[in-house]
Amino acid sequence: MRLRSSTGRQTWGSSAWGDSVEWERLAEHLKKQITGEVKVQEPLKNYTSWRIGGPADLLVVPGTLEDLRVCLSFARDHGVPLTVLGNGSNVLVLDGGIRGLVVKTAGGLSGIRVQGERVTAEAGAMLPVLVNTVIRYGLTGLEFAAGIPGTVGGAVVMNAGAEGQSISEVVEEVTVLRTDGEFVSLGKKDLTFGYRHSSLQEHPVTVAAVVMGLRPGNIQEITDRVRRLLEVRRKRQPLNRPNAGSVFTNPGPQAAGYLIEKVGAKGLTRGRAQVSSVHANFIVNMGGATAADVLDLIEEVRERVRREFGISLKTEIKVLGEGLSTGS
Ligand SMILES: Cc1cc2nc3c(=O)[nH]c(=O)nc-3n(C[C@H](O)[C@H](O)[C@H](O)COP(=O)(O)OP(=O)(O)OC[C@H]3O[C@@H](n4cnc5c(N)ncnc54)[C@H](O)[C@@H]3O)c2cc1C
Repeated sequence: MRLRSSTGRQTWGSSAWGDSVEWERLAEHLKKQITGEVKVQEPLKNYTSWRIGGPADLLVVPGTLEDLRVCLSFARDHGVPLTVLGNGSNVLVLDGGIRGLVVKTAGGLSGIRVQGERVTAEAGAMLPVLVNTVIRYGLTGLEFAAGIPGTVGGAVVMNAGAEGQSISEVVEEVTVLRTDGEFVSLGKKDLTFGYRHSSLQEHPVTVAAVVMGLRPGNIQEITDRVRRLLEVRRKRQPLNRPNAGSVFTNPGPQAAGYLIEKVGAKGLTRGRAQVSSVHANFIVNMGGATAADVLDLIEEVRERVRREFGISLKTEIKVLGEGLSTGS
């Protein structure tokens, strides 16, 4: 059985847009209203860490939070489905691509402000950049995130974490954009976080900015800790090939990677996708892999683990878009 695409986080009814849509005309219209980039039929493989994914009808990289607000209103007013991407490091975009408007926050909304122990970051700020910034201010609490190649917005939505810590521990406030174009500030008590999960996943909101509370620390000690953590990642993760981090969540005390290794799936290949021989919970793109290749591998691995251990692995990655390619 194939994985189905998740339904997409923010759609306003079924799109009235079909093949005949004048995306170019819409793009021109949008370009007049925002400062950021607007592209038509843009291959999303250029925007995901897996280097996989068909085209977005319309892709926007907003330059400002106001751009972001305009994009959301634009999508709502035109009845165009909206998908928000951070840095595309935890998603599998299917080979048919994503219909409607895809807004990518990485590359545009990257502002970071430090005031005492409070740090405010726009949704598209990259975690490694954020960590380097707070180190300069001698602030501790985010070291675990140094090697996570995602945005602050994506991290909060996914409750990204490592080394037994997660971003929820430092989040104080999340500013979201509602579908009606209103910015709303949510306190920690308004949100629930779990393992690779936040309640934001169930709501049609876009994270615009995040306020985090850190603690003062020793710059040298913080720097050393970050170096150590990055070194461990370099040894344990196949960072030389495009990937999306852990494909499956850990089902319990036994790590997904351990179970996958035990069923002999390390090195298993479908098309140009391969279960990494370095870390079994990673699937790497050997060059030219399709989403269909990755989905085939996911199903094969899941089936083997289910047969051997009676455990049904759940994906950590989010599957977005539509259509399966006929390739491999
Ligand atoms: C080499 C590698 C190592 C990794 N290591 C880790 C790790 O140690 N720990 C870990 O937790 N993860 C890890 N990841 C996975 C990934 O980097 C994290 O989940 C990261 O937080 C995702 O951020 P992103 O900006 O790339 O989000 P995306 O992949 O772009 O999006 C993830 C989800 O969040 C939604 N989303 C993104 N931004 C917004 C927004 N502003 N508003 C609303 N919804 C939004 C998307 O629609 C999607 O559903 C790793 C990935 C790689 C490639």
